[in-house]
Amino acid sequence: MTHKQVTIGKTDVQATPLGLGTNAVGGYNLFPNLKDEDGLNLVKAGLNNGIKLLDTAYVYGLGHSEELVGQAMHDFDRHSFALATKGAQDFSSGEQVINNDPKFLTAQVEASLKRLNTDYLDIYYIHFPDKQTPKAEAVGALQRLREQGKIRAIGLSNFSLDQVKEANADGYVDVVEDEFSLLHRDHEADLMPYLKDHQISFVPYFPLASGLLTGKYDQDVTFPADDIRSQISDFQEPRYSQALKAIDAIRPIADAHQATVAQTVLAWYMQDPLVSVVIPGAKRAAQVEANAQALDVTLSDAEYQTIDTAFSGFKTITSGKSLADPD
Ligand code: NAP
Repeated sequence: MTHKQVTIGKTDVQATPLGLGTNAVGGYNLFPNLKDEDGLNLVKAGLNNGIKLLDTAYVYGLGHSEELVGQAMHDFDRHSFALATKGAQDFSSGEQVINNDPKFLTAQVEASLKRLNTDYLDIYYIHFPDKQTPKAEAVGALQRLREQGKIRAIGLSNFSLDQVKEANADGYVDVVEDEFSLLHRDHEADLMPYLKDHQISFVPYFPLASGLLTGKYDQDVTFPADDIRSQISDFQEPRYSQALKAIDAIRPIADAHQATVAQTVLAWYMQDPLVSVVIPGAKRAAQVEANAQALDVTLSDAEYQTIDTAFSGFKTITSGKSLADPD
């Protein structure tokens, strides 16, 4: 079955509205007990099940996620899917420093190309803004790499609206990746409409709220200290109980489509006019296979609205400090 395609920004990069996040593919610094084999299998499962955007980053396993994604995609036609990665983390001093210096970003892109074993990236994101580099200069470095054919679309991640405006002074920015889910709706009021108006695609991360929005959790949940979910505010009260209550409103809609809660939530994002590609992560191939079926779920306007309303309280509940904050 051929699925709908979306276009990234003002480029000719195409993808399905459902991608695959790979921070748990080799991301040993983010999650405990990951196996390389599971990571390789889940990336292949994505590509075998019609997913056409892979999202990785240098910082996921400090290059290991990119290496595994590079290996997994080896048997697939490189032109048949889009590949996104990110960089800005400089560990040369022994600790993580965010660095958007044009020379550093250029070297990061070259290193990512090697690890991914490819000669172009469909999207390269500046993973976090630094404090010192003029934003348009950082983006200018990526524009030169685009002119050399090494990247096809320029992305920003974790930039505020003002920082996006500054970075896009020359109109080179094509896509922004930031946290957005039914539980984290802060960007709906300003950032997302701005991007739409300027033909910049929006790619939300943590769309399943790290698994919470799959509907698989009940009132009693704990995570080990080395699992990033142990620090996430969504799993702490009162937010956690509020989320469980809202998730219950999705269940009858999921049942009506013979779909899971996760598939229904992913379908909701794909019908949000302000969202371009939603990139759920996964730990195992079976999760990816299940999530890919969301490409075949279409909600009615009334169902879309019911879910929107069930989670409308989260438009005003502030998210607190984001896990993605580098410091
Ligand atoms: P997520 O998509 O909200 O949640 C993914 C997790 O949910 C999986 O690892 C899995 O965890 C669980 N899950 C997924 N599908 C499931 C299913 N069908 N049934 C049951 N459980 C399921 O969070 P994320 O993976 O952390 O974020 C998505 C992607 O966004 C990342 O992979 C990464 O590429 C990107 N990201 C980007 C940034 C940035 O700064 N740009 C920051 C964070 C993430 P369990 O099996 O352990 O429950």
